Amino acid sequence: MLTLPTFADVVAAAERLKGHAHHTPVLRSSTLDTRLGAQVFFKCENFQRMGAFKFRGAFNALSRFDAAQRLAGAIAFSSGNHAQAIALSARLLGIPAVILMPLDAPQAKIDATRGYGGEVILFDRFQQDREVLTREIAVQRGMTLIPPFDHADVITGQGTAAKELFEEVGELDYLFVCMGGGGLLSGSALAARALSPGCKVIGVEPEAGNDGQQSFRSGAIVRIVTPKTIADGAQTQAVGEITFAIIRRDVDDVLTVTDAQLVEAMRFYAERMKMIVEPTGCLSLAAVCHAGVPLQGKRVGVIVSGGNVDLQRFGQLVGNST
Ligand SMILES: *Cc1c(COP(=O)(O)O)cnc(C)c1O
Repeated sequence: MLTLPTFADVVAAAERLKGHAHHTPVLRSSTLDTRLGAQVFFKCENFQRMGAFKFRGAFNALSRFDAAQRLAGAIAFSSGNHAQAIALSARLLGIPAVILMPLDAPQAKIDATRGYGGEVILFDRFQQDREVLTREIAVQRGMTLIPPFDHADVITGQGTAAKELFEEVGELDYLFVCMGGGGLLSGSALAARALSPGCKVIGVEPEAGNDGQQSFRSGAIVRIVTPKTIADGAQTQAVGEITFAIIRRDVDDVLTVTDAQLVEAMRFYAERMKMIVEPTGCLSLAAVCHAGVPLQGKRVGVIVSGGNVDLQRFGQLVGNST
C-alpha cells in the first residue's frame, strides 16, 4: 500500500518555503471574464523563482534532507524546469547537485542549469539509459535522487501554489491545472479538497499526449510513446504511482487541448495580460476557453505553471498568424 501525502504535508511544505519561494500574484482579466461571463483567477507561477512552480517541490524535497544527504547532495535527470529547480534549490541550501541532461538539450537550458550552480553531466540519449546512469552516479557518490513528480515532498511542495490561491481568493467552483506527470495536479487537488471542498479540479493535457486522461478514465496507468506537442513540460509518457493515486481520488476530470489552442492562449497572455507563458503553462487557460466546460457565473482558478520559453521560439509560435 502506498502512503499518500496529505494536506497537512502541504501546510508543512508551505512553512519550509516561507521566505524562499515567491508568493506569486493572482491576476485577473476583465476581457476574459466578460467573454466567459465568469470570474477567472490566474495564479501566476511564471513569476516564481526560476520561472516555474517546480521550485516549490524541489526546494521542499531538498529542505528535508538529513545531514548525510546534504553532504552527498542531490541528483536529478531532466532537460526542463525540474533541472533548474533542483540546481537553484541546492545552491540556496548549500547542497551539491548533479543534473543529467541529454547531449542535445538546448544550450540555453544547459547554461541556465549551470548558471544556478548545478553540475551538469551530459549523456547520449540514443546510447545510454538515463535512469541506469543516474542510479550509477547516485550510488557512486551517495547522492539522493529527486524525481520530477512521483515523490511525496515534490507533490506537497507543488500543492502550495493552489493553497496560496485559495487562501487569497476563497473557494472556487473550478480549478484548472496543467498536467505532465501529475505532480502539480495532485498537489493542487490536496489543497482544493481541504480549502474548497466543492471545487471541481480539472487536469489538462495536450491532446497528442493524453496518457493521463486515458489512465484517469480506465483506472490504470497507461504508458504512451513520447508525444509530439509544443507543450514540452507535458511530454511525460506516464503519470506516477503516487500522483495517480491522488488524482484518481481527488481529481474530477482530465481534459485535453490542441497545440493550436495552446498558441492561442499564449497570444492571449502576451497581448492581454502582458505575460510570457511557456506552451505547457498555457494548457489550463486553453481548456477554460475550449474544452466545453460550462463556466458562466462560475469562479474559476487557473494555474499558470511557468514562463520558460526562449524568445526566438516564443516569437515563432505567437508570430505566425493562424
Ligand atoms: C513540469 C511542468 C508541468 C507539468 O507538471 P507535472 O507535475 O509533471 O504534472 C507543467 N508546466 C510546467 C511549466 C512545467 O515545468
